[in-house]
Amino acid sequence: MDKKLIALKNALDKATNIAVLGGAGFSTESGIPDFRSRDGIYNKYKDMNPEAMLSAETLRNNPELFFDFYVDVMIIEGIKPNTAHYFLAELEKKPGKHVTIITQNIDGLHQEAGSRNVIELHGSAKRYYCVNCKEKYDDRKMDKSQFAGKPPLPRCDKCGFMVRPDVVLFNESLDSRNLERSRAELEKAELVIVGGTSLAVYPANMLLMYARKADIFVINKEPVNISRFVGDQNVTVIQGSLGKVFGELMDQGKSGTQSN
Ligand code: NAD
Repeated sequence: MDKKLIALKNALDKATNIAVLGGAGFSTESGIPDFRSRDGIYNKYKDMNPEAMLSAETLRNNPELFFDFYVDVMIIEGIKPNTAHYFLAELEKKPGKHVTIITQNIDGLHQEAGSRNVIELHGSAKRYYCVNCKEKYDDRKMDKSQFAGKPPLPRCDKCGFMVRPDVVLFNESLDSRNLERSRAELEKAELVIVGGTSLAVYPANMLLMYARKADIFVINKEPVNISRFVGDQNVTVIQGSLGKVFGELMDQGKSGTQSN
């Protein structure tokens, strides 16, 4: 096994408090495109300005346009968790491990894989709520089959107002309780894994500043600029796919091979 992978395996064996700061790259191997890769949503829809489409302003001023784009781009059916999700779910079950996943993703795949301690910084595309009476709905409210042609707006069964996804749109604030919890977990973590994120999105990227006593491992396909968010901790960068890295660690675990 590669030296850096051995170091990661040893760090995972040793640490009690482990935090994962993850992004869209966790789910590309499940078939959900990320935002900023070559095959990502920004490139595919660059003429449509995805950030503006997925903004609080578009939802407010032109909800038909918002839902048209949201349903097409952000709702992908039949998606399943991948090796990276399952690896972390198994890790959480190991005795003596306190694992927290702080995710920017809205796809719910960590929970579907079995992880319980997940902080969804940007909410969840699996949940909806009424903008008026706050009645909650699950994703059956947005069954793609109802959107043949121009989408009708999803309406609340109780008050008739618009129902919206429980996700943090561009120009909306993150839930302060999620930020506080993330901060506390990062402060006590001895090991932080940063995976599948360009670290371009504020304030998720700034949270790393709280990981002061942790060894940090970055697993990302493309280079990311992490130095501006961390101090003098050990930072190990593994450039590659999360599926491959966690797949190898999983195989090691099964074979029980010692890594020194
Ligand atoms: P991003 O698109 O800015 O960056 C993704 C990074 O992951 C890239 O650097 C890319 O090289 C890397 N990557 C892609 N596939 C990988 C893999 N298999 N293994 C390792 N690295 C991989 O995504 P971001 O930093 O998460 O920020 C974008 C925002 O987009 C987030 O706020 C998130 O809410 C939202 N988003 C979520 C989903 C989702 O829920 N699955 C999908 C798209 C976008």
